[in-house]
Amino acid sequence: MPTAFLTRLINDYKFDFESGTGTDHVKSGWWHHELVLYEKTWKGLSRPDFADSISVLNLYHEGTHAYIDLVDYDQTREFGEAMKHYEWAKLTNGDKVWPDVDTERAVQEAAAMYVGNRAATVWKTWARLKLLDQLVKKVSDGKLTVAKGIEIMRNTGKSTVANDYWADMSERVFGYVERDGKQVEVADRPIYYKLADYCDRVILENSISDHLVKMPALGNYIDNVYRAAQKFPELAKAMVTP
Ligand SMILES: [Zn+2]
Repeated sequence: MPTAFLTRLINDYKFDFESGTGTDHVKSGWWHHELVLYEKTWKGLSRPDFADSISVLNLYHEGTHAYIDLVDYDQTREFGEAMKHYEWAKLTNGDKVWPDVDTERAVQEAAAMYVGNRAATVWKTWARLKLLDQLVKKVSDGKLTVAKGIEIMRNTGKSTVANDYWADMSERVFGYVERDGKQVEVADRPIYYKLADYCDRVILENSISDHLVKMPALGNYIDNVYRAAQKFPELAKAMVTP
């Protein structure tokens, strides 16, 4: 996972780990630079077995806001172009993104959601493979029938690991603005290409690809699990059949 931007934040930004419940957020402004995470998220991240993907998503989402604030990307011409890109974009409630009033927020949230989605997709895929790995082992050990194994396998995602990965990574519509204190999402305008490129390059270190074949660690893991499953042809078939 790309973590250089988080390391930079740990060194140069203030982290606040709150007890109790609340919404993770970033306080930014002239003198206030603080990334606030609540208990559910930081406990989710420090789970001894495997951090949950919602907590990973929240960390990367808020980390993106904080990083943009830290390096003043929101003061750049490119960020301004992204703001222009979102002017009059349709919202899911039929309303529009208003120039000036909404555009900065729309860009901030588009960037944070884009990064969060990509990081969480990698994490979710890894978690799913761990599950499939254990499942195949249980079938091998005779603790689970092949039929039961196939049934559980089918419930680990919408389609195959590869298809779900592709579908999640292909998501391009992100961002939201606030209406009456509620989040209303951008309906159909894809993220500004330079904004996506900035997120991929600077925040995600070009290490998260849309293509599973360009993710060697995940690819190897799939191959290994698939190879083990091949002892039971029906099980192996279920793993790669949508
Ligand atoms: Zn946000």
